Amino acid sequence: MTHVRTALVIGGGIAGPVAAAALRKVGVEATVFERADETTDNVGGIIGLAPNGMNALASVGLDEAVHKVCRPVPSMVLLSGTGKRLAEFGSAQAGPVLHAVWRKDLFLALAGEAKARGVRVEFGKRLVGVDESADSVTARFADGTSATADILIGADGIRSTVRSLIDPSAPGPRYTGLLSFGGRPTKPLRVPSTHGSLHMVYGKKAIFCYLADDDETGWFVNMPSKRAMTIAQARAVGAAEWQRRLAELFTEDRSPAVEIISASDPDELVIVGGVDDLPHVPTWHRGRMILIGDSAHATSPSSGQGGSMAIESGVQVARCLRDLPSVPEAFAAYERLRRPRVERVIAEGRKVDQSKSPGPVGRALRDLLLPTMMKLIAKPERRAWQFDHRIDFAAAVSPAELG
Ligand SMILES: Cc1cc2nc3c(=O)[nH]c(=O)nc-3n(C[C@H](O)[C@H](O)[C@H](O)COP(=O)(O)OP(=O)(O)OC[C@H]3O[C@@H](n4cnc5c(N)ncnc54)[C@H](O)[C@@H]3O)c2cc1C
Repeated sequence: MTHVRTALVIGGGIAGPVAAAALRKVGVEATVFERADETTDNVGGIIGLAPNGMNALASVGLDEAVHKVCRPVPSMVLLSGTGKRLAEFGSAQAGPVLHAVWRKDLFLALAGEAKARGVRVEFGKRLVGVDESADSVTARFADGTSATADILIGADGIRSTVRSLIDPSAPGPRYTGLLSFGGRPTKPLRVPSTHGSLHMVYGKKAIFCYLADDDETGWFVNMPSKRAMTIAQARAVGAAEWQRRLAELFTEDRSPAVEIISASDPDELVIVGGVDDLPHVPTWHRGRMILIGDSAHATSPSSGQGGSMAIESGVQVARCLRDLPSVPEAFAAYERLRRPRVERVIAEGRKVDQSKSPGPVGRALRDLLLPTMMKLIAKPERRAWQFDHRIDFAAAVSPAELG
């Protein structure tokens, strides 16, 4: 036991509330400080939580609250732009391949559950600096207030302030070569139901993902673009213009993309702009400060694992603080448990990104090889290291686990 009694958790996204709730379970009083106000999630859109993420939530009893706001997706079907079925992941027997959830609902569910366990969550608190001493750390916020605790956990996302406070020379995000958009149709469609499954169409110019059901249809697009764009730059283009450009990307494909995009309300278009990852952050902790979630290990959305990795890290950091005798040992153990796994996931996500933005020769090869590749990838044993990963929160961190 590290004798840590209090923790400041910076960031009320996914990793922050999970870590704070898990810390409460091990007797640490945690407070979450989120820069946004309670009604915004900054980005929007749907994300999919993988089975390993749901398992990690269950390990600290947070799964029930999340189940209430998400819908199980039984399988993922991969199709070519010519309409050919390439592969299917998942089966009724194996359970859902993922749980789809609106990001805002997830944030609210996690923060609500953390609060129900006695975690204080303060909104409108943007961290701008820290003061450190041998046995405590003080966070300074943009509104002039401050807070002090035994440790500070940076769960403040891919553009983390805590990361640069730990290591001013830390690398920043890397552009994946893709712009991201999403939406939901508001006009009637003639599209056949996917019966809750997610369909991914590898089109000629971009990949179109959608889920069409009686009660809800949603979609997202990863559009290759050499030019990176911030969210502000992308939004400045205008929703109606993006809707037109996105629909145009899919005119040569045999898929419902054009119909679904055109039936969506431009006012509800989710414009994310360029998507980034963070392949290697050399320093995850210094003194009494540590990084979890995207601040340490952001993966491209193509991996479908960013949220789940953030949850796993939130759970593991609490477990290490419970079981190791000192803060430096707990932080080192956490890094040992997490770094190899998250960096492997990031590398896999990068490979998927590259398959989404090939040149003409790459595209021809991709279309030729995709059916065989997909048959291999779709084998459950190939994905077990990612999806079947389980954290036994009740078990003490063992030397064998640390390798
Ligand atoms: C388009 C897109 C699609 C995605 N799809 C998926 C998917 O399908 N599945 C999946 O698992 N993952 C997906 N991801 C990734 C996933 O969203 C992230 O990995 C996950 O949100 C990381 O959680 P986090 O808590 O570490 O960071 P965030 O969720 O980014 O939360 C960080 C929080 O910190 C706050 N903050 C930032 N700076 C400060 C500060 N200085 N002071 C106080 N608060 C601060 C922010 O306001 C934010 O609320 C997607 C990402 C994108 C961009």
